[in-house]
Amino acid sequence: MRSSVSVRFQLLGLPILAAVLYAGSCCGVQAQRPKSAWYYHALTGMEVGPTGAQFGHSDPTDTRYCSRFDGTQIVQSAIAAHCDYLVLWVRDGDYAYYQSKLLPVAPGLKSRDPLKDAVREAHAHKLPLLAYCVVQQGGHYLSAHPEYEMRGMDGSRLGRFCYNSGYLEAMKQIVAEQLAYGIDGFHIDMVDQGFGQPYGCWCDSCKRLFHKRFGHDMPKSVSWDAAWNEMLEFRYSTSEQFEKELRAYIRSVNPAASVDFNYHGNPPFSFEVGQRPVQHAGNADFVTGETGQWGFSALGVGLNAEFYRASTPGRPFQVAMQHGVRMYHDQTTRPVADMQWELFTLLAHGAFVTIVDKTGFEGQLDPIAYQRMGKIFAEAHAGASNFGQDPVYDVGIYFSARTRDWYGRERSGLYFQSFQGAAKMCAYEHLSYGVVLDENLTLAGIRRFPTLLLPNTEILSAKEIDIFRQYVGEGGNLIVTGQTGTRSRMGEPSLTACDASEALIGGKASASLASKDNWVAFDNTTPTVLTRDIPTVWKFLVEGPAVAYTCTTASPLGNLMEPERTTLQKQGKDTSDWPMSAGRSVGPAALLNRIGKGRVLTLACSPDFATASDHHITEARRLLRNAVQMLEPTPRVTISAPANVETVVTDDPKTRTLRIHFIGYNSLPQTTAASTRPYTLPGLMEEPLLFRAEIRTRFDIRSAAAGRTTQIEKSARRVKVTIADVHEVILLKY
Ligand SMILES: [Zn+2]
Repeated sequence: MRSSVSVRFQLLGLPILAAVLYAGSCCGVQAQRPKSAWYYHALTGMEVGPTGAQFGHSDPTDTRYCSRFDGTQIVQSAIAAHCDYLVLWVRDGDYAYYQSKLLPVAPGLKSRDPLKDAVREAHAHKLPLLAYCVVQQGGHYLSAHPEYEMRGMDGSRLGRFCYNSGYLEAMKQIVAEQLAYGIDGFHIDMVDQGFGQPYGCWCDSCKRLFHKRFGHDMPKSVSWDAAWNEMLEFRYSTSEQFEKELRAYIRSVNPAASVDFNYHGNPPFSFEVGQRPVQHAGNADFVTGETGQWGFSALGVGLNAEFYRASTPGRPFQVAMQHGVRMYHDQTTRPVADMQWELFTLLAHGAFVTIVDKTGFEGQLDPIAYQRMGKIFAEAHAGASNFGQDPVYDVGIYFSARTRDWYGRERSGLYFQSFQGAAKMCAYEHLSYGVVLDENLTLAGIRRFPTLLLPNTEILSAKEIDIFRQYVGEGGNLIVTGQTGTRSRMGEPSLTACDASEALIGGKASASLASKDNWVAFDNTTPTVLTRDIPTVWKFLVEGPAVAYTCTTASPLGNLMEPERTTLQKQGKDTSDWPMSAGRSVGPAALLNRIGKGRVLTLACSPDFATASDHHITEARRLLRNAVQMLEPTPRVTISAPANVETVVTDDPKTRTLRIHFIGYNSLPQTTAASTRPYTLPGLMEEPLLFRAEIRTRFDIRSAAAGRTTQIEKSARRVKVTIADVHEVILLKY
């Protein structure tokens, strides 16, 4: 993510050239590789690269840098640490880490060639050796080639590469030089167009191409109108074409080489990066992206994995984490338990995992880091048969790229908060969730979810609404929250849009509330399943967007209240940043509407947004949980466990085995931060959590099994466990 710091890794594939049988991909974007390709079978790997030039413009005469960067030693260390593949750093914004004739060579290498050594050693051990190759990082190369540089609206140089500039041809020469070493593929990092203002690119080449495509000049401001819509499309297609053409070229040189691009289509990334969730996930052999508390939160680990899965259904997906305490290059190593928690969260969610290792300045490896990575990789391999099964979902959480761009605009976090809050609720409440994306939405695709949740999906098309109606009509459960469906395609508040979703909701939106500090209350006439663990006749804050509805075909439940406002607030002389107490009722808190065999439960407030807010009260989260359980009262599996234990349920129908993964998170308390108080990163996890959990099923359990240290107690449709490990998996035969 931010600038070049995350410049990351890559991998690559099998030397098996024969039998390259291509099958059509599920999303039709491109051909898929044969199932013999390395990434169909890999579980753990590493990306190893140097530290010292990651910010670009390093001293080209400093021969200490990479003087000990040793391809043979890196491969041997990765193999000893149980890697299934290795991504070796070969090019960044400053240097090549091999004897390049096209690029400056890292000064400490002198006549050595770590890539040549690594390929020889890796092939001797049949280890797929992939080249980490940067495409987007300022440094010595871009300084020498200003003709490839992105330009801002005012023509200023942006320090990044423009993908329409002719740079693609230069990249082809660079990857050809690397392919000649016999590598098995590439991790390309990263096809972004920046991570915020100023946005690019307004270079002469982009201006010409834009005019040719749209018949007029590029917009000269961020106008959020039809011209800006074209600009977004232009930027998206620029990234897509670059990815497709670079990959096609690599394939033309070596048809067996795998190609993946470091993905930036998921939150917290938005339009500025130039990637959409689906459009830019499918242009490689598999999607790969990053996680880590430094940029994505503890809950983002599992959520990122599910997002990648949704962006390329049916295909392998990879997630990268780091062994550094805070980031990639910080030269530190996390405790084993902290890395175990992250690694096993990713594996349980179905990803294969790369750990990023950044060597010391001279290229030296940290033996303790390799010892710890080796320990957890060995554990992963020992339990390999428990990963990769199909998930059993309770809820599909909907994500709309259109809403991200046109409601979120330059404050996309406001949209992400509802999406991420929904995932947080599911994780805390042990509801298994997957992600559903607007770009590849189909009725067949959402049938696997008993319940679909639309968290503040402000922009809905007629096509989406029609698919949701069919889904509910045939028995699906739909939960709608906040201001879903209240805006036009261009993101403006719209009565026409509200009318379009009225039949789905069974209510007429009379107003979207301007306030975020909105309140709800339920009385004793509300079905108790919706008020479980919530006091009735009690007003509680559900911070987030809300809508005043009047019911048409739906039944009203509870009350929604707007907040009081002081005289100064009404006069605009005081802010309303802090929640104020409840004021008058403006409509029902919820609406329950029946369509065919299914039901739509609309929450006029936003418990998802509230769950991810600074004013998260547990009742707001429980309201959303209760909504799911009200619509689906007897799921296949119900799990009770502490909120800091993440669970994942998978099914292997062939052996009639359900697997319930438990991953206990045990971050330690922190002191205040020296800056940005009160915001702190979570403390590290040093030891496993000891916890009890219970699994209830709607089927008779034939047998239940767990690891050696877990206490287990089985009855007909219930299993009680006491777990003292970071990760445990309970196998239930049905
Ligand atoms: Zn350009």
